[in-house]
Amino acid sequence: MASRARRLPQNVEGDFYVDETCIDCDACRQIAPATFRDHGEQSSVYRQPETERETQLALQSLIACPTASIGTIEKHSVRAAIDSFPQRIADNVYFCGFTSEASFGAWSYLIVRTPEEGGNVLVDSPRFASQLVKRIELLGGVQTMFLTHRDDIAAHASFAKKFGCERVMHAADGAARLGMERIIEGEEALPLDKDLLMIPVPGHTRGHVVLLYKNRFLFTGDHLAWSPARETLTAFRSVAWYSWPEQTRSMAKLLDYDFEWVLPGHGRIHHDTKESMRAHLSRCIEWMKATG
Ligand code: SF4
Repeated sequence: MASRARRLPQNVEGDFYVDETCIDCDACRQIAPATFRDHGEQSSVYRQPETERETQLALQSLIACPTASIGTIEKHSVRAAIDSFPQRIADNVYFCGFTSEASFGAWSYLIVRTPEEGGNVLVDSPRFASQLVKRIELLGGVQTMFLTHRDDIAAHASFAKKFGCERVMHAADGAARLGMERIIEGEEALPLDKDLLMIPVPGHTRGHVVLLYKNRFLFTGDHLAWSPARETLTAFRSVAWYSWPEQTRSMAKLLDYDFEWVLPGHGRIHHDTKESMRAHLSRCIEWMKATG
């Protein structure tokens, strides 16, 4: 729970505040940009919510925050905010909210499908919060848990135990040691089923894999995200733990595929036409080569 005593001085006066435990994951700024801002290595409230909608978004941020760093002075019911997750992004693809500190607040997603379509897929791990687990259960549970890379696995074991799902991960990120049920190897793209394609993209980590759903949704982990500052797709050079040149090479592989959504673990979501997405990807690759 956030603490008033540890309230950051950068917050404006009023109901909502961020305390000093903030790890600067960006979740609140994405969910409620009218309320939260980055003041440099942490977030704070720069404008108090003024409408019911803004209050609701600020409360959703409070629930999504991995470190419980957001607090309020007034008493609010958080029921609606809790029940808003998993939150639909488009079609049958949902954002789980409830990010985990163990994954540094990485975003995870749920693809909701019928058993005939292969069942639900949880992409990376949210916090194992009972309220979220219950909601996922109501949506049909988890058939498959796809883990993009070793940093965003958080509560994978708890989800596997609860739902008996098959966890899928690349061998080069320690899948065997972590007890994954399905281990993928090599650099060739591999179908998970008829609608899901796993594309190994070494770079951020050696065993990083992105997941393409129906040639529309690309779940990118920490490989690729939208940069609001540069208004194009980007990658994070300072956290290319394995190899930036490899990540650049992996990025070029994605030109072979169509997608309209980039859904990252860290960084911003982007939705665009397939053509625009390809143009942004080309720009990103050129930029990566130039910084190589
Ligand atoms: S969601 Fe929480 S940890 Fe992340 S930036 Fe906001 S206050 Fe900080």
